[in-house]
Amino acid sequence: MNNDIIVSISTALGKGAISIVRLSGEGCIELVNSVFKGKDLTKVDSHTINYGHIVDNDKVVDEVLVAVMRAPKTYTREDIVEINCHGGIAVTNKVLELLVINGARLSLPGEFTKRAFLNGRIDLVEAEAVMDIIESKTDKALNVAVSHLNGNLSNIIREFRDKILNLLANIEVNIDYPEYEDAEVVTINTIKDRVDEMTNTLNLIIKESMNKKIIKDGIDAAIIGKPNVGKSSILNMLLGEEKAIVTDIAGTTRDVVEGSISLNGIMLNFIDTAGIRETDDVVEKFGVQKSLETMNKANLILFVLNNNEIITKNEEEIIKQLKNKKYIVVVNKKDLDKKLDLSKYQLDNIIYTDTVSSDGIESLKDKIIELFKLDELDNQSDDFFTNERQITLAKEALYIMEDVKKGIDNEVPVDMLEIDIKRIWTKLGEILGENYDEELIDKLFSNFCLGK
Ligand code: GDP
Repeated sequence: MNNDIIVSISTALGKGAISIVRLSGEGCIELVNSVFKGKDLTKVDSHTINYGHIVDNDKVVDEVLVAVMRAPKTYTREDIVEINCHGGIAVTNKVLELLVINGARLSLPGEFTKRAFLNGRIDLVEAEAVMDIIESKTDKALNVAVSHLNGNLSNIIREFRDKILNLLANIEVNIDYPEYEDAEVVTINTIKDRVDEMTNTLNLIIKESMNKKIIKDGIDAAIIGKPNVGKSSILNMLLGEEKAIVTDIAGTTRDVVEGSISLNGIMLNFIDTAGIRETDDVVEKFGVQKSLETMNKANLILFVLNNNEIITKNEEEIIKQLKNKKYIVVVNKKDLDKKLDLSKYQLDNIIYTDTVSSDGIESLKDKIIELFKLDELDNQSDDFFTNERQITLAKEALYIMEDVKKGIDNEVPVDMLEIDIKRIWTKLGEILGENYDEELIDKLFSNFCLGK
């Protein structure tokens, strides 16, 4: 296995009180020792912090504390050295440069965690949890990620696989040693019962995972409506009260997020509200087509209407499309005379607001909480899949289980069923990163930040 020395600045780039330059790989302790003035690092105990200076020949580059951690009890299971430098950009870069000149290689994004995975310290679900911890924006998302890093989800999958293995073993014994009396007799009915039981459990976890995706990803909400109904005012009212947590999520491929608030610990991201801030623009921006496109991208639609105007044809078109979506019709400007009549449309969720006196905002938030059952998310287990990769593989395992059940109904011979049951076992292993695909692993870890 490749364990050349990698190095990276592991703290956020920029000015700070300290910054940490981290190295991993065989020989990294000797390498740092060659540019270190202080104790002989090759002789110090493992997991100690040592005071000294980083030197370039005889010139002192920085006063540092150096943590020495020997394999295997380290993040990567390789020797690791962490150099705590004074946190200036120039000085940190100088230390980094010196280490590279002396033989270390700049690490790729996520390469430390990738090594932890390749060296068997964590499985893929746990590695993904590391990334989720970094990206968590709310306490709830963080709790789930930490639980997964502790192996809770991995253990469930392992137990699942153990059950399958057990079943396979019993089938084998029955086929090979029919006279062996101690073995559990596996009949077609036994297999059917077990597969039924597993299908139900996996189905539940997958369903839970779809529901709980919002804990990690938040809810993408779109505010739509014709110009001047009060979309910007409503957005500002929502953001202003809760204080925007992020105004822009840089580096992700998602739509522009105008702002986010945390609602019951869930991120509510306002997406694709482009144009609504340009109120000076007199061009009609409210196209039905454009609104439909936006609606398709969002998990929640806030459709804003003006209480003081009668409904337009375009607005009627949108109303027709709201069915089957999670929506709230926000009737704004309730302080003005009522001219809008919605009685003939059979709409479920209508909230009246007046942004001038900030009236209706609580009702609007309560409605969102109700629609997504956010108040019920608290006391539930954290055992669910948190990303598409995990969910897709679990679904694939489920399809194979369905095949087995069909096979049983069609009286397929047991040894044929066995092949499919083995495939379920392999599929679930893929979730943990067993028999990984090189390309997939590279892609996955490249999403990490540098130095992690
Ligand atoms: P947008 O084009 O849909 O984003 O609408 P704006 O939020 O820019 O609001 C358009 C105009 O309506 C502005 O002059 C606001 O001050 C006004 N407005 C917004 N909400 C209310 C409201 O609840 N009551 C009243 N009377 N005026 C409002």
